[in-house]
Amino acid sequence: MGEDIVSFGAGEPDFDTPAPIKSAAIKAIEGGFTKYTPSSGIPELKKAICEKFQRDNDLTYEPGQIIVSCGAKHSLYNIFQAICDEGDEVIIPSPYWVSYVEMVRLAGGAPVILRTEQKDGFKLKKDRLKGAITGKTAAFVLNSPSNPTGSVYTKSELEDIAEILINKKVAVISDEIYEKLIYDGERHVSFASLGKEVYDLTFVVNGVSKAYAMTGWRIGYLAAPSKEFSSAIGRLQDHSTSNPTSFSQKAAVEAIKGDQGCVEAMVSEFGNRRDYMVQRINGIKGISCVNPKGAFYVFCDISGMKMDSFEFARRLLDEAKVAVIPGEPFGWDTHIRLSFATGIEDIKKGLDRIDEWVKGL
Ligand code: PMP
Repeated sequence: MGEDIVSFGAGEPDFDTPAPIKSAAIKAIEGGFTKYTPSSGIPELKKAICEKFQRDNDLTYEPGQIIVSCGAKHSLYNIFQAICDEGDEVIIPSPYWVSYVEMVRLAGGAPVILRTEQKDGFKLKKDRLKGAITGKTAAFVLNSPSNPTGSVYTKSELEDIAEILINKKVAVISDEIYEKLIYDGERHVSFASLGKEVYDLTFVVNGVSKAYAMTGWRIGYLAAPSKEFSSAIGRLQDHSTSNPTSFSQKAAVEAIKGDQGCVEAMVSEFGNRRDYMVQRINGIKGISCVNPKGAFYVFCDISGMKMDSFEFARRLLDEAKVAVIPGEPFGWDTHIRLSFATGIEDIKKGLDRIDEWVKGL
Protein backbone atom coordinates (compact mmCIF):
# COMPACT_ATOMS: atom_id res chain seq x y z
CA MET A 1 0.00 0.00 0.00
CA GLY A 2 1.50 3.33 -1.07
CA GLU A 3 1.27 6.46 1.04
CA ASP A 4 -1.62 8.87 0.59
CA ILE A 5 0.28 11.82 -0.92
CA VAL A 6 -1.45 14.81 -2.50
CA SER A 7 0.69 16.08 -5.35
CA PHE A 8 0.72 19.64 -6.63
CA GLY A 9 3.71 18.82 -8.78
CA ALA A 10 2.04 18.14 -12.15
CA GLY A 11 3.46 19.95 -15.15
CA GLU A 12 0.78 18.63 -17.49
CA PRO A 13 -3.03 18.75 -17.76
CA ASP A 14 -4.76 15.97 -15.81
CA PHE A 15 -7.34 15.65 -18.62
CA ASP A 16 -7.22 12.92 -21.23
CA THR A 17 -6.35 13.72 -24.85
CA PRO A 18 -9.70 14.42 -26.60
CA ALA A 19 -11.19 11.43 -28.47
CA PRO A 20 -11.12 12.91 -32.03
CA ILE A 21 -7.38 13.52 -31.66
CA LYS A 22 -6.78 9.94 -30.56
CA SER A 23 -8.92 8.68 -33.45
CA ALA A 24 -6.85 10.62 -35.95
CA ALA A 25 -3.72 8.87 -34.69
CA ILE A 26 -5.36 5.44 -34.70
CA LYS A 27 -6.56 6.01 -38.25
CA ALA A 28 -3.06 7.06 -39.28
CA ILE A 29 -1.50 3.95 -37.77
CA GLU A 30 -4.09 1.64 -39.29
CA GLY A 31 -3.64 3.34 -42.64
CA GLY A 32 0.09 2.59 -42.54
CA PHE A 33 1.27 6.13 -41.81
CA THR A 34 4.13 4.70 -39.79
CA LYS A 35 7.26 5.57 -41.73
CA TYR A 36 9.72 8.47 -41.89
CA THR A 37 8.19 11.80 -42.79
CA PRO A 38 9.98 14.95 -43.97
CA SER A 39 12.33 15.81 -41.07
CA SER A 40 10.80 19.17 -40.27
CA GLY A 41 7.19 17.94 -40.40
CA ILE A 42 4.50 16.91 -42.87
CA PRO A 43 3.17 19.62 -45.24
CA GLU A 44 -0.38 19.10 -43.95
CA LEU A 45 0.66 19.95 -40.38
CA LYS A 46 2.83 22.91 -41.41
CA LYS A 47 -0.14 24.28 -43.36
CA ALA A 48 -2.43 23.80 -40.32
CA ILE A 49 0.12 25.60 -38.13
CA CYS A 50 0.30 28.54 -40.56
CA GLU A 51 -3.51 28.75 -40.52
CA LYS A 52 -3.46 28.65 -36.73
CA PHE A 53 -0.96 31.51 -36.56
CA GLN A 54 -3.16 33.54 -38.89
CA ARG A 55 -6.40 32.67 -37.07
CA ASP A 56 -5.23 33.02 -33.47
CA ASN A 57 -2.28 35.40 -33.59
CA ASP A 58 -2.71 37.52 -36.70
CA LEU A 59 0.66 36.28 -37.89
CA THR A 60 1.51 35.36 -41.46
CA TYR A 61 4.02 32.57 -42.01
CA GLU A 62 4.76 30.32 -44.94
CA PRO A 63 5.10 26.58 -44.35
CA GLY A 64 8.82 26.92 -45.12
CA GLN A 65 9.26 29.01 -41.95
CA ILE A 66 7.80 26.28 -39.71
CA ILE A 67 9.77 23.44 -38.11
CA VAL A 68 7.81 20.74 -36.30
CA SER A 69 9.79 19.01 -33.54
CA CYS A 70 9.43 16.48 -30.71
CA GLY A 71 7.75 18.90 -28.31
CA ALA A 72 8.22 22.62 -27.70
CA LYS A 73 11.23 21.69 -25.61
CA HIS A 74 12.93 20.28 -28.68
CA SER A 75 11.99 23.40 -30.67
CA LEU A 76 13.61 25.58 -28.01
CA TYR A 77 16.70 23.40 -27.90
CA ASN A 78 17.07 23.65 -31.68
CA ILE A 79 16.78 27.44 -31.61
CA PHE A 80 19.46 27.86 -28.92
CA GLN A 81 21.76 25.49 -30.81
CA ALA A 82 21.24 27.46 -34.01
CA ILE A 83 21.62 31.00 -32.73
CA CYS A 84 24.11 30.79 -29.84
CA ASP A 85 27.80 31.14 -30.48
CA GLU A 86 30.30 30.39 -27.71
CA GLY A 87 29.97 33.06 -25.00
CA ASP A 88 26.82 34.68 -26.40
CA GLU A 89 24.60 36.09 -23.69
CA VAL A 90 20.96 35.14 -23.49
CA ILE A 91 18.75 37.19 -21.18
CA ILE A 92 16.27 35.15 -19.16
CA PRO A 93 13.85 36.87 -16.76
CA SER A 94 13.43 35.07 -13.44
CA PRO A 95 11.46 33.21 -12.23
CA TYR A 96 12.08 31.10 -15.35
CA TRP A 97 11.20 27.68 -16.63
CA VAL A 98 14.11 25.51 -15.52
CA SER A 99 15.22 24.23 -18.92
CA TYR A 100 16.04 27.59 -20.56
CA VAL A 101 19.20 28.04 -18.52
CA GLU A 102 20.48 24.54 -19.20
CA MET A 103 19.68 24.73 -22.91
CA VAL A 104 21.57 27.99 -23.28
CA ARG A 105 24.56 26.43 -21.50
CA LEU A 106 24.39 23.34 -23.70
CA ALA A 107 24.61 25.61 -26.72
CA GLY A 108 27.74 27.28 -25.33
CA GLY A 109 25.88 30.45 -24.41
CA ALA A 110 25.89 32.34 -21.11
CA PRO A 111 22.53 32.76 -19.40
CA VAL A 112 22.01 36.24 -17.94
CA ILE A 113 19.32 36.08 -15.29
CA LEU A 114 17.23 39.18 -14.74
CA ARG A 115 15.13 39.17 -11.62
CA THR A 116 11.59 40.52 -11.80
CA GLU A 117 9.60 41.76 -8.82
CA GLN A 118 6.59 40.05 -7.31
CA LYS A 119 4.91 43.45 -6.95
CA ASP A 120 5.11 43.82 -10.76
CA GLY A 121 3.37 40.47 -11.16
CA PHE A 122 6.77 38.90 -11.97
CA LYS A 123 6.94 40.86 -15.23
CA LEU A 124 10.10 42.49 -16.50
CA LYS A 125 10.31 46.28 -16.66
CA LYS A 126 11.88 47.83 -19.73
CA ASP A 127 14.58 49.78 -17.89
CA ARG A 128 15.84 46.65 -16.27
CA LEU A 129 16.02 44.95 -19.65
CA LYS A 130 17.78 47.92 -21.21
CA GLY A 131 20.47 47.89 -18.54
CA ALA A 132 21.23 44.22 -19.10
CA ILE A 133 21.90 44.35 -22.84
CA THR A 134 25.60 44.27 -23.76
CA GLY A 135 27.57 43.87 -26.96
CA LYS A 136 27.39 40.12 -26.42
CA THR A 137 23.62 39.82 -26.01
CA ALA A 138 22.32 37.41 -28.62
CA ALA A 139 18.78 36.76 -27.46
CA PHE A 140 16.02 37.39 -24.96
CA VAL A 141 13.62 34.71 -23.71
CA LEU A 142 9.98 35.64 -23.23
CA ASN A 143 7.50 33.21 -21.68
CA SER A 144 3.93 34.49 -21.50
CA PRO A 145 1.83 32.95 -19.99
CA SER A 146 4.65 31.93 -17.70
CA ASN A 147 5.73 28.75 -16.01
CA PRO A 148 6.09 29.02 -12.98
CA THR A 149 4.28 32.30 -12.23
CA GLY A 150 1.28 32.26 -14.59
CA SER A 151 1.91 35.91 -15.40
CA VAL A 152 0.65 37.21 -18.72
CA TYR A 153 2.14 40.30 -20.39
CA THR A 154 -0.31 42.85 -21.77
CA LYS A 155 0.09 44.33 -25.22
CA SER A 156 1.49 47.59 -23.89
CA GLU A 157 3.99 45.80 -21.65
CA LEU A 158 5.14 43.81 -24.66
CA GLU A 159 5.44 46.99 -26.70
CA ASP A 160 7.70 48.48 -24.03
CA ILE A 161 9.97 45.46 -24.22
CA ALA A 162 9.85 45.39 -28.01
CA GLU A 163 11.05 48.98 -28.21
CA ILE A 164 14.27 48.08 -26.40
CA LEU A 165 14.89 44.90 -28.33
CA ILE A 166 14.34 46.56 -31.71
CA ASN A 167 16.78 49.32 -30.83
CA LYS A 168 19.44 46.85 -29.82
CA LYS A 169 18.58 44.25 -32.48
CA VAL A 170 18.28 41.39 -30.01
CA ALA A 171 16.59 38.16 -31.15
CA VAL A 172 13.56 37.03 -29.16
CA ILE A 173 12.53 33.52 -28.32
CA SER A 174 8.86 33.72 -27.45
CA ASP A 175 7.67 30.55 -25.71
CA GLU A 176 3.88 30.59 -26.05
CA ILE A 177 3.16 27.00 -25.06
CA TYR A 178 0.54 28.14 -22.48
CA GLU A 179 -1.18 30.50 -24.92
CA LYS A 180 -4.58 28.83 -24.65
CA LEU A 181 -4.61 28.51 -20.87
CA ILE A 182 -5.57 32.01 -19.94
CA TYR A 183 -8.21 33.39 -17.53
CA ASP A 184 -10.28 36.43 -16.57
CA GLY A 185 -10.89 37.34 -20.21
CA GLU A 186 -7.18 38.17 -20.64
CA ARG A 187 -5.98 37.97 -24.22
CA HIS A 188 -2.76 36.37 -25.32
CA VAL A 189 -0.72 38.68 -27.55
CA SER A 190 1.88 36.95 -29.65
CA PHE A 191 5.09 38.99 -29.48
CA ALA A 192 5.85 38.71 -33.20
CA SER A 193 2.47 40.26 -34.05
CA LEU A 194 3.56 43.67 -32.73
CA GLY A 195 4.97 44.75 -36.09
CA LYS A 196 7.40 43.92 -38.85
CA GLU A 197 10.54 44.87 -36.93
CA VAL A 198 9.53 42.61 -34.05
CA TYR A 199 8.50 39.80 -36.39
CA ASP A 200 11.94 39.91 -37.98
CA LEU A 201 13.61 39.35 -34.60
CA THR A 202 11.28 36.71 -33.15
CA PHE A 203 11.19 32.94 -33.04
CA VAL A 204 7.74 31.82 -31.88
CA VAL A 205 7.55 28.51 -30.05
CA ASN A 206 4.31 26.69 -29.43
CA GLY A 207 2.89 23.16 -29.45
CA VAL A 208 -0.02 20.91 -28.67
CA SER A 209 1.15 19.54 -25.30
CA LYS A 210 -0.65 21.85 -22.89
CA ALA A 211 -3.63 23.13 -24.92
CA TYR A 212 -4.85 19.69 -25.97
CA ALA A 213 -3.56 17.54 -23.10
CA MET A 214 -1.03 15.89 -25.44
CA THR A 215 2.20 16.00 -23.45
CA GLY A 216 3.13 12.42 -24.32
CA TRP A 217 2.63 12.81 -28.06
CA ARG A 218 5.71 15.04 -28.38
CA ILE A 219 4.71 17.60 -30.96
CA GLY A 220 5.89 21.19 -30.74
CA TYR A 221 6.80 23.70 -33.39
CA LEU A 222 8.56 26.95 -34.11
CA ALA A 223 8.09 29.73 -36.59
CA ALA A 224 11.32 31.39 -37.70
CA PRO A 225 11.51 35.00 -38.88
CA SER A 226 12.99 33.92 -42.23
CA LYS A 227 13.66 30.80 -44.26
CA GLU A 228 17.36 31.31 -43.73
CA PHE A 229 16.87 30.47 -40.04
CA SER A 230 14.27 27.75 -40.57
CA SER A 231 16.44 25.91 -43.08
CA ALA A 232 19.45 26.04 -40.72
CA ILE A 233 17.30 24.65 -37.90
CA GLY A 234 15.80 22.13 -40.31
CA ARG A 235 19.27 20.84 -41.17
CA LEU A 236 20.14 20.54 -37.48
CA GLN A 237 17.02 18.45 -36.89
CA ASP A 238 17.66 16.45 -40.05
CA HIS A 239 21.04 15.31 -38.76
CA SER A 240 20.02 14.79 -35.15
CA THR A 241 16.52 13.45 -34.49
CA SER A 242 14.87 13.38 -37.95
CA ASN A 243 11.09 13.74 -37.95
CA PRO A 244 8.77 13.85 -34.96
CA THR A 245 6.57 10.73 -34.76
CA SER A 246 4.52 10.30 -37.94
CA PHE A 247 1.11 9.53 -36.43
CA SER A 248 1.52 12.14 -33.66
CA GLN A 249 1.78 14.69 -36.44
CA LYS A 250 -1.57 13.51 -37.85
CA ALA A 251 -3.07 13.81 -34.36
CA ALA A 252 -1.68 17.35 -34.09
CA VAL A 253 -3.40 18.29 -37.37
CA GLU A 254 -6.70 17.22 -35.83
CA ALA A 255 -5.95 19.09 -32.59
CA ILE A 256 -5.14 22.34 -34.35
CA LYS A 257 -7.83 22.22 -37.04
CA GLY A 258 -10.61 20.41 -35.18
CA ASP A 259 -13.32 21.68 -32.83
CA GLN A 260 -11.69 23.83 -30.11
CA GLY A 261 -14.50 23.13 -27.59
CA CYS A 262 -12.21 20.76 -25.66
CA VAL A 263 -9.85 23.66 -24.91
CA GLU A 264 -12.66 25.87 -23.63
CA ALA A 265 -13.94 23.14 -21.31
CA MET A 266 -10.47 22.59 -19.88
CA VAL A 267 -9.82 26.30 -19.39
CA SER A 268 -13.11 26.76 -17.60
CA GLU A 269 -12.30 23.94 -15.16
CA PHE A 270 -8.75 25.24 -14.63
CA GLY A 271 -10.18 28.70 -13.94
CA ASN A 272 -12.44 27.39 -11.16
CA ARG A 273 -9.61 25.47 -9.55
CA ARG A 274 -7.32 28.47 -9.74
CA ASP A 275 -9.88 30.70 -8.01
CA TYR A 276 -10.27 28.19 -5.21
CA MET A 277 -6.53 27.64 -4.77
CA VAL A 278 -5.60 31.31 -4.74
CA GLN A 279 -8.29 32.16 -2.23
CA ARG A 280 -7.28 29.29 0.07
CA ILE A 281 -3.53 30.09 -0.10
CA ASN A 282 -4.10 33.73 0.69
CA GLY A 283 -6.18 32.66 3.69
CA ILE A 284 -3.23 30.77 5.22
CA LYS A 285 -1.20 32.95 7.55
CA GLY A 286 2.47 33.16 6.54
CA ILE A 287 2.13 32.24 2.87
CA SER A 288 0.59 34.13 -0.04
CA CYS A 289 0.39 34.24 -3.82
CA VAL A 290 -0.24 36.50 -6.76
CA ASN A 291 -3.27 35.54 -8.85
CA PRO A 292 -1.93 33.82 -12.00
CA LYS A 293 -3.59 35.00 -15.20
CA GLY A 294 -2.54 31.99 -17.25
CA ALA A 295 -0.96 28.50 -17.29
CA PHE A 296 -1.86 26.16 -14.38
CA TYR A 297 0.59 27.13 -11.66
CA VAL A 298 0.48 29.22 -8.52
CA PHE A 299 3.86 30.60 -7.44
CA CYS A 300 3.49 30.86 -3.72
CA ASP A 301 5.54 33.14 -1.46
CA ILE A 302 6.90 31.28 1.57
CA SER A 303 9.47 33.90 2.57
CA GLY A 304 7.74 34.33 5.94
CA MET A 305 8.33 30.69 6.87
CA LYS A 306 12.04 30.90 7.71
CA MET A 307 12.89 27.95 5.49
CA ASP A 308 14.35 27.75 2.01
CA SER A 309 12.18 26.26 -0.70
CA PHE A 310 13.78 22.79 -0.62
CA GLU A 311 13.42 22.49 3.13
CA PHE A 312 9.83 23.69 2.95
CA ALA A 313 8.99 21.19 0.20
CA ARG A 314 10.79 18.32 1.94
CA ARG A 315 9.17 18.94 5.30
CA LEU A 316 5.75 19.46 3.76
CA LEU A 317 6.09 16.10 2.03
CA ASP A 318 7.42 14.27 5.09
CA GLU A 319 5.15 15.83 7.68
CA ALA A 320 1.94 16.68 5.78
CA LYS A 321 2.12 14.32 2.79
CA VAL A 322 1.82 17.07 0.22
CA ALA A 323 4.21 17.36 -2.74
CA VAL A 324 5.09 20.77 -4.19
CA ILE A 325 7.95 21.98 -6.37
CA PRO A 326 10.62 24.12 -4.66
CA GLY A 327 11.16 27.52 -6.27
CA GLU A 328 14.97 27.39 -6.22
CA PRO A 329 15.32 25.67 -9.64
CA PHE A 330 13.14 28.45 -11.10
CA GLY A 331 15.54 30.99 -9.60
CA TRP A 332 13.48 31.91 -6.50
CA ASP A 333 14.28 30.15 -3.25
CA THR A 334 11.57 32.08 -1.37
CA HIS A 335 8.74 30.45 -3.30
CA ILE A 336 7.18 27.11 -4.13
CA ARG A 337 5.18 26.12 -7.20
CA LEU A 338 1.79 24.47 -6.91
CA SER A 339 0.02 23.11 -9.95
CA PHE A 340 -3.76 23.06 -10.24
CA ALA A 341 -3.65 20.45 -12.97
CA THR A 342 -5.15 18.03 -10.48
CA GLY A 343 -8.77 17.30 -9.44
CA ILE A 344 -10.60 19.73 -7.17
CA GLU A 345 -11.10 17.15 -4.39
CA ASP A 346 -7.35 16.63 -4.18
CA ILE A 347 -6.79 20.36 -4.29
CA LYS A 348 -9.11 20.79 -1.30
CA LYS A 349 -7.50 17.94 0.60
CA GLY A 350 -3.98 19.18 -0.13
CA LEU A 351 -4.74 22.74 0.91
CA ASP A 352 -6.41 21.54 4.12
CA ARG A 353 -3.20 19.67 4.91
CA ILE A 354 -1.00 22.67 4.11
CA ASP A 355 -3.21 24.90 6.26
CA GLU A 356 -3.02 22.53 9.23
CA TRP A 357 0.72 22.00 8.85
CA VAL A 358 1.56 25.70 8.59
CA LYS A 359 -0.59 26.43 11.67
CA GLY A 360 1.34 23.81 13.63
CA LEU A 361 4.81 25.20 12.80
N1 PMP B 1 7.98 25.67 -22.22
C1 PMP B 1 7.47 25.72 -20.98
C2 PMP B 1 7.40 27.04 -20.30
C3 PMP B 1 7.00 24.55 -20.36
O1 PMP B 1 6.49 24.63 -19.11
C4 PMP B 1 7.10 23.33 -21.04
C5 PMP B 1 6.62 22.03 -20.43
N2 PMP B 1 6.80 21.88 -19.08
C6 PMP B 1 7.64 23.33 -22.32
C7 PMP B 1 8.06 24.51 -22.89
C8 PMP B 1 7.82 22.05 -23.11
O2 PMP B 1 6.64 21.56 -23.68
P1 PMP B 1 6.63 20.26 -24.56
O3 PMP B 1 5.92 19.20 -23.79
O4 PMP B 1 5.84 20.63 -25.80
O5 PMP B 1 8.01 19.89 -24.90
